[in-house]
Amino acid sequence: MRLKLAIQKSGRLNEDSMRLLKECGIDIGNGVNKLKTDATNFPLELFFLRDDDIPQYVEDGVADIGFVGENVVYEKAKKVEVTYELGFGKCRLSFAVLKSEEFTGPQFLAGKKIATSYPVLVQKYLDENKVKAEIHEISGSVEIAPGIGLADVVCDLVSSGSTLFMNGLKEADTILKSQAVLIKHKNFTSEQQQILDRLLFRMESVKKAKKNKYVLLNAPNEQLEKIISLLPGMKSPTVLPLATPGWSSVHSVIQESDFWDMIEQLKNAGAEGILVIPIEKMIL
Ligand code: ATP
Ligand code: ZN
Repeated sequence: MRLKLAIQKSGRLNEDSMRLLKECGIDIGNGVNKLKTDATNFPLELFFLRDDDIPQYVEDGVADIGFVGENVVYEKAKKVEVTYELGFGKCRLSFAVLKSEEFTGPQFLAGKKIATSYPVLVQKYLDENKVKAEIHEISGSVEIAPGIGLADVVCDLVSSGSTLFMNGLKEADTILKSQAVLIKHKNFTSEQQQILDRLLFRMESVKKAKKNKYVLLNAPNEQLEKIISLLPGMKSPTVLPLATPGWSSVHSVIQESDFWDMIEQLKNAGAEGILVIPIEKMIL
């Protein structure tokens, strides 16, 4: 039995999806140009599809799971379960207006023409804010619509905002914050769930490892207590004597988020020769 996973064939999510599988130790071989391929060392079959089609394939059970942006999941509104946040493909679905205009709130949109590839999510926002406006659905290059007189306002995916800026637009209200997620259908067998659990376990180990660093440092023994109190470690730090009398080597795991603060405090406490090493997998 193989779990069938749908990922984007080409586009912004393809590379990160493939990288994540590789980091999970799953070998895809060179089937990338095909419609589907088997992993060689894990019970997984890969389907390469347009991202817009992935929720439907998963709902129908043609694929069991999919990697796809939340923006697409919620726009398509298919019967699928969002199971896991993958941590890549981060963007926002936002309104954008001409640079010369002032977005004063939802009422600004009343009576306007809005160009978007996300008519369902835009309509929902309009309904929630009791605003009537005209939606023009277009499938790509939404940001040029105001410039060619097709619309007054756009609602599109933004990450840096530079595409909007180059087209004379500025970002206004955000409808949805999005990232790539793992979706699954609602008729999972226990055998399918077992494979998914193995995959989720690996993805979680990769994610945790990225958030942490392995630190090695040398410390004079009289400062050991102070230095150990600064380090969290998985249980407690490892302390080994150095060949030089009166010195020890201390090993620990620290979080990326408080990394620089921690290093400064360690230095001030007398630590020397600090080495920081990336962690590949972290199994707790
Ligand atoms: P396909 O050919 O598969 O339909 P596409 O053109 O619809 O591809 P891409 O532009 O490759 O899609 O974007 C795929 C997903 O990447 C988006 O649905 C979104 O979840 C995510 N994404 C992240 N940042 C951005 C961004 N700045 N602009 C657009 N999409 C982004
Ligand atoms: Zn698409």
